[in-house]
Amino acid sequence: MRHIAIVGSGPAGYYTAEAALKHWGEEVQIDVFDALPVPYGLIRTGVAPDHQSIKGVARRFEKTALNENVRFVGNVKVGEDINIADLQRLYHAVVLATGAPRDKALDIPGKELSNIFGSAAFVGWYNGHPEFAGLAPDLSGKNAVVIGMGNVALDVARILAKTRGEFAGADIVEHALDALDASHITAITIVGRRGPHQIMMTPKELGELMHLERASPRVDPADLPEESADALLEPGLRKSVTHLRSFAAIPENIRGEAAIDIDFDMFASPVAFHGDGGNVREIELEETRVEAGRAVGTGRTYRVPADLVITCIGYRTSPIPDVPFDDRAGRFANDEGRILPGLYCVGWARRGPSGTIGTNRPDGYAIADLIAADLASKAIDTGSKQGAAGFDRFAEEHGITPVRFSDWQKIDAAEVAAARDGAPREKFVDVEAMIAAGES
Ligand code: NAP
Repeated sequence: MRHIAIVGSGPAGYYTAEAALKHWGEEVQIDVFDALPVPYGLIRTGVAPDHQSIKGVARRFEKTALNENVRFVGNVKVGEDINIADLQRLYHAVVLATGAPRDKALDIPGKELSNIFGSAAFVGWYNGHPEFAGLAPDLSGKNAVVIGMGNVALDVARILAKTRGEFAGADIVEHALDALDASHITAITIVGRRGPHQIMMTPKELGELMHLERASPRVDPADLPEESADALLEPGLRKSVTHLRSFAAIPENIRGEAAIDIDFDMFASPVAFHGDGGNVREIELEETRVEAGRAVGTGRTYRVPADLVITCIGYRTSPIPDVPFDDRAGRFANDEGRILPGLYCVGWARRGPSGTIGTNRPDGYAIADLIAADLASKAIDTGSKQGAAGFDRFAEEHGITPVRFSDWQKIDAAEVAAARDGAPREKFVDVEAMIAAGES
């Protein structure tokens, strides 16, 4: 029997479990750990609450989770409750699928002013992540600034722009829905340090901005390159740029009817935040031009009103004690997923925060192959390991009470039962409430 510990129950974790089951069948026992009492990682706390179809993949992960050779071991913090050396002692292979849950910092003057948040925190707030549920962003100002031109920036801008009615069918948590309903924001500026040909936004997500009830996107036609230049772009990006062109073509009188402006401010690099009384009030931007793909400052600066700022500029993996970490890249130091024989990383913890949920599938399968190769070459000690039974003994000795998948099923049922009309669930936003529901 092979014993594998997977740390993290998000897409990278469950795709790896699925791949290991395909590889070893009945000959593998897999424990999937999570720091939270609930599974699925980014599916629950990252994917936008109004993108329910993306969350459907959880059903596939549930099938894996319910396999007899797989256990969910929730509410256990690896690196705190149990260290890596202990896990390695118990399992043949340990796979870190911990994602990239920390915000990359935007280190500019004024960053300490209040009402500036990273997207991990802000998205965590509206998605009910226990760590960020208490964030309480102040939405009483008129001007929000979203920094970054990726899909997370689009998620954040769209969520800020939607009406209560547009959240029908979404699993946005009640505290966020109420706060957004009372929001005074009328201008959302999306700031990009490069231009239309360098955006990271995908067409489907960008297209959604055309269909918002009270908001309209605005692109300055002067920011757009000659249309003929689009022909050289890869098809997805070309479609995204076509969306930007249609935003630029919206007549002013039509746009004027929208209560909320979503303004794309491109070729603009953040230089400083300015505030009064401790609150952010403006962002100072430096005009840029793009040279050899890089944003180069021109020295010309201007200010944009900013009562709320969300930086959506990427994420970092949280280090785990005794695991080699590449600080510059913000992820575990690894060679194609191998940190060292017996210790692996997968998904964002391996390659950084890029790609879609589906990108984690080949990643998971590649890691299972790597483990198999290391077992075959005896790079990993193939002697018998205690696996799940050994962990249970460790847990008992150390007063750890893991949340099991059957507990999660009770939490799940309680959340579904508490859903407001039309919503799939009302999430518990604190760990104690989750555990209590699991024990009921
Ligand atoms: P991303 O796609 O890498 O975009 C990050 C953005 O931040 C880029 O525009 C980048 O500009 C900008 N940026 C980085 N550092 C900056 C700085 N110091 N100052 C100003 N701008 C800065 O990352 P993301 O939006 O966080 O998304 C992460 C991954 O999740 C992506 O693969 C994304 O597609 C995926 N995702 C998908 C969906 C979906 O499919 N619906 C939803 C959300 C997220 P430069 O390009 O100039 O560096």
